[in-house]
Amino acid sequence: MREQKGILTVVSGFSGSGKGTIMKRLLERYPKEYALSVSATTRQPRPGEVHGREYFFVSAEEFEDMIARGDLIEYARYVENYYGTPRAYVEEQLLAGRNVILEIEIQGALKVKEVLPDTLLLFVTPPSAQELRARLEGRGTESPQVIEARLRRAAEEGQGVEQYEYLVVNDELEECVTLVHQIIQCEHSRMARCRNQINEINKELSSFVKQS
Ligand code: 5GP
Repeated sequence: MREQKGILTVVSGFSGSGKGTIMKRLLERYPKEYALSVSATTRQPRPGEVHGREYFFVSAEEFEDMIARGDLIEYARYVENYYGTPRAYVEEQLLAGRNVILEIEIQGALKVKEVLPDTLLLFVTPPSAQELRARLEGRGTESPQVIEARLRRAAEEGQGVEQYEYLVVNDELEECVTLVHQIIQCEHSRMARCRNQINEINKELSSFVKQS
């Protein structure tokens, strides 16, 4: 028995930590249980990225309109571009009972936690800083300046990791996916998330006692 509403999970991690691959795999394995929120960004698409799949790629004006209308749960500036989480899809999926994953950076993660305190915060890291640098360089999609900026940002973000609830070390992909799934499953059983069920059981128990 578990509560019906999904859990909102924010997954952050250094750029190059492999969090995107973990989430993609999580959704492939458990398509009915998870929904991945697609963010809006003013960044240019990378080769192979599709509008509406990786991101909604929008202009700065469109992004500002979304802010003004209150369409975003949170937004942040990251290495020269805006990124934000559209509200409607997240709310709809949570109500449908799916665990919604937001793959966002630390400023946004903390804002979401402030607005929606039930949010679960996970942080993904590669096994070492050396590995992180190698992954960023190996990706081949960013200029050396952008890689430098992302490493600088990673160093800053490393200072905020303690504000997350779980650390996931991305060494072996499938093991990592299993771990993330288990963490979220366990969260469903946390007493604080099960108040409605407990109240129901207690109500029924009291009615038994009254009847006897
Ligand atoms: P990238 O340009 O590599 O796709 O993303 C850069 C950073 O922005 C990553 O850390 C990613 O998790 C974060 N990000 C993506 N979408 C959002 C969002 O909607 N809000 C916030 N705050 N960060 C986001």
